[in-house]
Amino acid sequence: DYKLSKRVNAIKPSPTLAVSQKAAELKAAGADVIGLGVGEPDFTTPKFICDAAKAAIDAGHTRYTAVDGIPELKQAVCDKFARDNKLQYEPNQILVSAGGKHSIFNLLTAWLDEGDEVIIPAPYWVSYPDMTLLVGAKPIVIEAGIEQAYKITAEQLSAAITENTKLLFLNSPSNPTGMAYTAEELKALAEVLRQHPQVLIATDDMYEHILWTEASFVNIAMVAPDLIERTVILSGVSKAYAMTGWRIGYAAGPKAIIAAMKKVQSQSTSNPASISQHAALAALTGDQSFIAEMVTEFRARHDTLVADLSKIPGLKVISGDGTFYTFPNIEGLMAKVGVETDVELCERLLSEANVALVPGSAFGSPGHFRLSFAASREVLAEAVKRIAKFAADYA
Ligand code: PLP
Repeated sequence: DYKLSKRVNAIKPSPTLAVSQKAAELKAAGADVIGLGVGEPDFTTPKFICDAAKAAIDAGHTRYTAVDGIPELKQAVCDKFARDNKLQYEPNQILVSAGGKHSIFNLLTAWLDEGDEVIIPAPYWVSYPDMTLLVGAKPIVIEAGIEQAYKITAEQLSAAITENTKLLFLNSPSNPTGMAYTAEELKALAEVLRQHPQVLIATDDMYEHILWTEASFVNIAMVAPDLIERTVILSGVSKAYAMTGWRIGYAAGPKAIIAAMKKVQSQSTSNPASISQHAALAALTGDQSFIAEMVTEFRARHDTLVADLSKIPGLKVISGDGTFYTFPNIEGLMAKVGVETDVELCERLLSEANVALVPGSAFGSPGHFRLSFAASREVLAEAVKRIAKFAADYA
């Protein structure tokens, strides 16, 4: 028996990756399983980005780079923030890392001590609580259900903050709900945060571009410029450019915090892959039309899916603002089937309907499942048919 660290024993493996793996195993064993657990676009990386990576290899960009990323890429990230968000950052306020997840981990390591409290609105992205635990801090979850469109209110935030609160996570548009905070909603949260100067805001903008609301994307730094000195923006190229495998994320924030995160990175991974950095540079500076095409397709799938799922008795589903996820409330269906938990319901859906979904409890919101529509329209239609039949069998 090995005596592993308390910190590692406090966490569990990523449940979304686990579902994808289970579905892949069943498929490999010959089962006709539809896996809708994945968290990555079903598009391939645009060719001009792949070409830039090949050119980088041929040009000999195969060595260590600066820990925080090549200067051209950091400048491209600054330009991206100026172009898309009207936010001015200097290159020394930017850190490029091996994926958005790595950016978040660097921040938590640099910012949190044992016992510090981190406010995490639920439904949350699966990794926030476990990463918080891994650095010895304490997740404080605020629950936001379907009746409040899965978004926390200023009152809830105010009630959750204590003198030990060091960080607030915001993720908009949200994985798993697809909901985005409006400028007004963010302003109300900012008003609360102004009264608590010890709280840093981590805004996870990973799905910034996968959005179809009439209003364009906003984050808290854009609507409350006085809070910029207390905000770290976490983002990356994984979702916007269908580049999940390349592992490039970036963070923007106050110089001192970015420097501390860079120090962490310098003692753990060093620079992110040199070739991937050149690919990300091409992505950020090249033709952006790929994003609009992908978003148009995601939106069409979303609209059909939400309409179809709404017709299934026992499911409650609301329209999302973006991402490629929908997060129906399934309490009605659980009652019909006679199961206590969403985990059991997802197991039954997998074994009886051959559809793999991630239970809401993985995101801190039991009584739901997350369905990823990063799959073809045909596959989605078949999945809906199977779920509908499953529901009808228990009517
Ligand atoms: N943040 C959110 C909300 C995500 O959904 C993901 C990926 O699933 C990430 C961050 C991490 O992205 P990356 O693959 O770049 O590490």
